[in-house]
Amino acid sequence: MAIETFPVELAWRRHATPHVLHLAFRPADGSALGFVPGQFLNLHFETEHGNTHRSYSIANPPGADGLMEIAMSPVPGGLASDALAALEPGDVIQASGPFGRFVLREEPACRYVLVGTGTGITPYRAMLPTLQQRLGEGFKVHILIGVWRREELLFGADFRAFADGQEGAEFSACYSREFPADPGPWEHSGYVQTRFAHLGLDPEKDIVYLCGNPGMIDESVEVLKAMGFTLKQLRREKYLSARPAR
Ligand SMILES: Cc1cc2nc3c(=O)[nH]c(=O)nc-3n(C[C@H](O)[C@H](O)[C@H](O)COP(=O)(O)OP(=O)(O)OC[C@H]3O[C@@H](n4cnc5c(N)ncnc54)[C@H](O)[C@@H]3O)c2cc1C
Repeated sequence: MAIETFPVELAWRRHATPHVLHLAFRPADGSALGFVPGQFLNLHFETEHGNTHRSYSIANPPGADGLMEIAMSPVPGGLASDALAALEPGDVIQASGPFGRFVLREEPACRYVLVGTGTGITPYRAMLPTLQQRLGEGFKVHILIGVWRREELLFGADFRAFADGQEGAEFSACYSREFPADPGPWEHSGYVQTRFAHLGLDPEKDIVYLCGNPGMIDESVEVLKAMGFTLKQLRREKYLSARPAR
């Protein structure tokens, strides 16, 4: 069955970090796409072997402007990476979606531990208004991001502003390659998995979201299972690379 696509226009582009490109699309017909924070879009590309697509988490909450932001970490020589990096405002491509179940659910108050590596942090930026509302309903939130170094802290200012001085909200960052000389109390060295032992995790009270690098997710699941978590308390979105175009 053919996937139903619709045209989207690039509204603007900028660098979110030195490495990551931040792109905003809007439906070309001026409508607004309904989506739930945490879902992703598929962007479609023509190749010599036919049409193919790549998935990107939507990085902003739904808004009146109808924009759908994505954060793309380019893979050298990657099909979508090259095509998206070449787009200019006003260019139109095909999209489909939204897709995905990596969303916040209706559930009793708990602590959300939202873990992401690289661009895997983007779904949580889209969730911030919902998380804000849930803080007022007795939920707690810890957002944990893993990147190579501080300058690659994607949307770090947004997460810090969310957690800053807010009861029940915390933000921390792990740097796997380069640790700053002037770390803040929220900055740590190493992989995100190494922080789990320091978060006072409790399978009775915490639900852990894991997004991004598949290796990080698999290792995290092992660590968390050893801490007593079952798959029911773990929600995952793996940024698997796509199958070849044919
Ligand atoms: C649900 C979902 C959500 C996603 N959300 C995002 C997102 O928000 N931001 C984002 O940047 N990506 C995201 N991805 C990954 C994205 O869909 C593409 O796989 C990625 O952009 C590479 O596509 P490409 O066409 O440029 O590379 P391809 O042409 O598919 O690959 C080129 C070469 O690079 C290798 N490769 C592919 N991906 C990687 C990688 N991550 N690291 C190292 N080598 C790689 C491939 O094996 C291949 O050899 C998501 C994936 C999924 C499944």
